[in-house]
Amino acid sequence: MTNRHTNEADWHFDNTYIDLPSSFFSMIDPVPVRSPELTILNEDLAASLGLDDEVLQSDEGIAVFAGNNVPEGTKPLAQAYAGHQFGHFTMLGDGRAVLIGEHITPSGERLDIQLKGSGRTPYSRGGDGRATLGPMLREYIISEAMHALGIPTTRGLAVVTTGEIVLREKELPGAILTRVADSHIRVGTFQYAANMGKDEDLKNLADYTIERHFSALKDENQPYLALLKDVVDRQASLIAKWQLVGFIHGVMNTDNMTISGETIDYGPCAFMDTYDPATVFSSIDTQGRYAYGNQPPIGGWNLARFAESLLPLLHDDQEEAVKLAQDVVSDYPKRVEQYWLNGMRAKLGLFHEEKEDKSLIQDLLRLMKEQGADFTNTFRAITFDQLEDTDLQDASDFKQWYEQWQVRRNRQKESADDAQQLMKKSNPAVIPRNHRVEEALEAAVERGDYSVMTQLLEVLSKPYAHTPDQEAYTTPPPPSDRPYRTFCGT
Ligand code: AMP
Ligand code: MG
Repeated sequence: MTNRHTNEADWHFDNTYIDLPSSFFSMIDPVPVRSPELTILNEDLAASLGLDDEVLQSDEGIAVFAGNNVPEGTKPLAQAYAGHQFGHFTMLGDGRAVLIGEHITPSGERLDIQLKGSGRTPYSRGGDGRATLGPMLREYIISEAMHALGIPTTRGLAVVTTGEIVLREKELPGAILTRVADSHIRVGTFQYAANMGKDEDLKNLADYTIERHFSALKDENQPYLALLKDVVDRQASLIAKWQLVGFIHGVMNTDNMTISGETIDYGPCAFMDTYDPATVFSSIDTQGRYAYGNQPPIGGWNLARFAESLLPLLHDDQEEAVKLAQDVVSDYPKRVEQYWLNGMRAKLGLFHEEKEDKSLIQDLLRLMKEQGADFTNTFRAITFDQLEDTDLQDASDFKQWYEQWQVRRNRQKESADDAQQLMKKSNPAVIPRNHRVEEALEAAVERGDYSVMTQLLEVLSKPYAHTPDQEAYTTPPPPSDRPYRTFCGT
């Protein structure tokens, strides 16, 4: 049995999700674990949540992260949802996660606190409901890096080991990640509602979502159409941001796309080193459905599924509803491109739009692809005008491109200094390079040495600092004949 204790860490839980129709969730406590130990606590995040980090590190705090103790007043539940996984529709739900509740921060924000790896739920299907240490630390590292890069994301508050063994391809230490999110409402949650067949339930979910994330839309003439528009816009902005730093999500199933516009579910994700739109890391993505270059169009595909699920709310007449939805979704490619172009301009130190910008950008990317240039380091090198540090030096047409870029820059009234400032804050020096992440995970998981990870996290927390101590973290991985591979369901 999970204990219900006092609440010394100063959690302020207030659960509104349980006010939705009961088909949207199952009330369930996390399954207690044998002997939890804290491996990492996100002190900055704890502070912004108004939590006492000393208590969080005590046995009582750890018991909450482990699911052995739920703070008084919470009503834990597993959420139901559906999803298109690699294009195929399935009914899903939290198979290894429990939403402890919504915590209200001192500044009045409402944030989901979820335990991932907390045991079986009614949605576990064949799974054991558990997670292992390596992948939970990996999610922690990469989501923190994303946050520091300025990309909306769920975050990790803590990772605890459970003292239990989890059987995967071999025996691995079990772990639980405490995940913090604006919410865990997904495109798949709407698909679930639409497939349950009751328009009333769907309306309830849409109203709840608007209240929670888009409260300004309540008074719109057509609030559900406005919801669709805003979700399309947030996803366009988010996916453009991924493209601009070379982040590859790896499993953009509709159950892994949030309505709040946060990046979620760091399973097989990884950052691209060498620029190539076809880059795929996930071992199961054999068709390249979720390759780097496919992320923007897949975002559109997922949003079309979201729009479909909203149809009954958009208009009584099905044809009219489809027309309204199509109008909004067909706007997405333009939006994502606009966000991306604006971001690429900033990466090149350009303040205003000019017609030829897209071809200037595409020419650079073409050169990078031809030369197998490192994505992050190319932009970093040109930020500091260190052309000798690019992999493009030998390309005959790079000089020509560079001159075109200079001419373009000289046409703007902003100074070269201002342009460099813009580039410095748009081009990270460090990303979580795969070999660095692996090195940190190996030290932690194999040897119980967390110092490598702590150091990596420190460097990743200031990606735009461009300080000398970051240098060692900017090196691409050594060439290897085996491509880097990531795995789902770990
Ligand atoms: P993901 O690929 O992490 O988005 O997971 C897809 C679905 O599988 C979600 O419903 C998860 O909760 C569920 N799932 C993943 N791993 C497990 C596990 N070990 N036990 C039970 N359910 C799982
Ligand atoms: Mg998922």
